[in-house]
Amino acid sequence: MIRVNGRDYRLAHQPTVVVCVDGCEPDYIAQSVAHGHTPWLKEVLATGTVLIADCVIPSFTNPNNLSIVTGVPPSVHGICGNFLFDTESGTEVMMNDPKWLRAPTLLAALSNAGQSVAVITAKDKLRKLLGHDMKGICFSAEKADEATLDENGIDHVVEAVGMPVPSVYSAQLSEFVFAAGVELMSHERRPDVMYLSTTDYVQHKHAPGTDGADAFYRMLDHYLGKLDAMGCVIALTADHGMNAKTQMDGTPDVVYLQDVLDRWIGAGVARVILPITDPYVVHHGALGSFATVYLPAGADHTDLARRIGALRGIDSVRSRKEAAAFFELPPDRIGDLIVVAERSTVIGTAASRHDLSALDAPLRSHGGISEQRVPLIVNRRLRDIDPARRWRNFDAFDLALNHVE
Ligand SMILES: [Zn+2]
Repeated sequence: MIRVNGRDYRLAHQPTVVVCVDGCEPDYIAQSVAHGHTPWLKEVLATGTVLIADCVIPSFTNPNNLSIVTGVPPSVHGICGNFLFDTESGTEVMMNDPKWLRAPTLLAALSNAGQSVAVITAKDKLRKLLGHDMKGICFSAEKADEATLDENGIDHVVEAVGMPVPSVYSAQLSEFVFAAGVELMSHERRPDVMYLSTTDYVQHKHAPGTDGADAFYRMLDHYLGKLDAMGCVIALTADHGMNAKTQMDGTPDVVYLQDVLDRWIGAGVARVILPITDPYVVHHGALGSFATVYLPAGADHTDLARRIGALRGIDSVRSRKEAAAFFELPPDRIGDLIVVAERSTVIGTAASRHDLSALDAPLRSHGGISEQRVPLIVNRRLRDIDPARRWRNFDAFDLALNHVE
């Protein structure tokens, strides 16, 4: 047994794979199964363990991936978005460096307990956070050709997988993750524990049940079926769901909150931060359903919260204290107000700061409570679990390591 962040885990005694399918709204699975594309998933739904879990809010990639590998919410691990606002310097700071991580990962703990651990991510932005203090293999599909024994615990990845390094904006980037995972598991000295994390490029473009989505899940099904056939325990979950964020004419449904606050209290007086912002914005235009607002000293927080909450498309506004408690967020890394949009609406800063010209499909995005429900599926029947309790995506390792027969 090891104890990590207050939770106990058994060491893996059979190869164990936790998969985070980025942006996997449960309906993607339902539709691909109904359309006959995913025979492995269909079988697992009938014979394994099938739960719906809540992801952490903001329903973004990094906070949730870090929750899954630490087993705790952002209030403990500290990663609550891609960006935080440093009030002292007045600048937005990227949070993808391990120095922002406040809790050890289970992956590091397992590797320090002598288990062989492998981590494969689609985008490189997550690699350093996930691999922090971990011994073993850790590389991204995006930079698979740059992997070295020294830095990543493995080299010649591209040759071994037999696939060229895909574009960062492609379904193949996720396929590379699965193909590399199958490659690693097919060796005699296979990992005891493997964490695979894909990208939501497909989910941002394609709604559940469409050809593009079904093709993605057919691919996923193929590789996970292979891992299952090798005897792996597989726990599949997601970092967040995904919804259409459009008006009826197909254009993005955006509340430009910085513009609104500039009109109300003066230009640049309040500061709207969108923690979805990252270097890869082409598929979502940096628009999600979650924002945090820093207000100037002396501002009437209660009145501004009430007025923002009354805007069309806004679901809820919470003070820092309320949001930190309700969403389990680190209070020192969020603003004075936390604003969540309704299911079909996203929050922008100023209209002039969002380049929507690169959006080549109607906007689909995430970030809100409307994207909180995600699948939590294990390819085995589990013991001692209460299907009625509130499950979290960060229970995935607990299920896979502690509850498999
Ligand atoms: Zn994501």
